[in-house]
Amino acid sequence: MDYKASDNIQDLQYFGEFGGVNPSISDSSTYTFLSAKTMFDTFEGNTEGCYLYSRHSSPSNLYLGEALAQLEGTESANVYASGMGAISSVIMQLCNANDHIVCSRTIYGGTYAFLKNFLNKFNISTSFIDITNLEIVEKSITSKTKMIYCEAVSNPLLEVADIKSLSRLAKKHGIPLVVDNTFSPLNINAAKLGADIVVHSLTKFINGSSDCVAGAVCASTDFCLSLKDVNDGAGMLLGSTLDSLRAASILKNMRTLHVRIKKHSENAHYLATAFEKDGLKAVYPGLESHPGHDTMKEQMNAEYGFGGLMTLDVGSLENANALMELMQEEKLGYLAVSLGFYKTLFSAPGTSTSSEIPMEEQEELGLSQGLIRFSIGLDNDIHKTYLAMRSCMEKLDILPRKAVLV
Ligand SMILES: *Cc1c(COP(=O)(O)O)cnc(C)c1O
Repeated sequence: MDYKASDNIQDLQYFGEFGGVNPSISDSSTYTFLSAKTMFDTFEGNTEGCYLYSRHSSPSNLYLGEALAQLEGTESANVYASGMGAISSVIMQLCNANDHIVCSRTIYGGTYAFLKNFLNKFNISTSFIDITNLEIVEKSITSKTKMIYCEAVSNPLLEVADIKSLSRLAKKHGIPLVVDNTFSPLNINAAKLGADIVVHSLTKFINGSSDCVAGAVCASTDFCLSLKDVNDGAGMLLGSTLDSLRAASILKNMRTLHVRIKKHSENAHYLATAFEKDGLKAVYPGLESHPGHDTMKEQMNAEYGFGGLMTLDVGSLENANALMELMQEEKLGYLAVSLGFYKTLFSAPGTSTSSEIPMEEQEELGLSQGLIRFSIGLDNDIHKTYLAMRSCMEKLDILPRKAVLV
């Protein structure tokens, strides 16, 4: 990998109107024109650098979009009021009624519900398949298929998609590959590996302070403009517009993304390795036991590690709930959904973020009720955290007998 996303983000430089080191925030919903003709041309999409109305675009949102385009190495990027705002816009833009989607069966619960339940209204159907089985992926493509959709590292099972091969397959069939890269910003440059459209929930690692929801679409200039089209752009017409104040604060947080991702990865790798040694069922792409380990190694930017998420299967929902409550009492993190915070966050996906997926299907996917998803924090002394988590497990009799601390 020679694409240096974080260097490119650092090199973006703007001066505020008064010489500030941060760009000025555009605190306006509407913009004046010196001539009526220019206003008409702007509506027609024929003027560059003119702002019309902030649902369409605003300077603050464009600044954040430029940084996100640098993150993925795409021509352009649009920002949205949430990850789901970005995802639903992309899908609605690419599909007409009666179309079909080929999608990984392990994805974010909200995306699953949107594809499975909401798109029924338009008779758009989705084949949920094992994205790591390229033969099945190809067999599922029909003449109605409008995209292959997957997550680079999936929620919550941390399956790793082989983006290069999927991209080859998508190109062969003349359809776009859409990749949700929320779990692995900087770790994986999905667009550089061949994804045509990359979506992000900025709510997670990219913003990293769990104080807002936001999303992004990174893609070609043509596709980004089509989403903004005043006549038929899904982004423009469905209206999930990000507020300028938030766009400005997310841009400021994004400047430290590379430092945070390295630390999240280092800490998650440490804990996953230690818990696996203790005989626990730990899932982390950095472990050799992980089925996607080699794929991850091949497509990752090594300096950022294998990401900040890991899972532990502690056998039953009762164990999972008791452990999470105790870890919270011991100040080891929060029993909360979401990810990318400075503090560790843990939740049981089967009864929270993936509860949209029916129980039988969860079992088929290997999403067991004792599974805890951890978004590992920026703890300064991760060994101390390990010992404290381990002592919680000992108290609850969750550690396998063979685990003896030396
Ligand atoms: C959280 C999440 C989303 C949805 O993003 P919101 O900002 O909550 O709308 C989509 N995909 C993944 C992988 C996520 O973790």
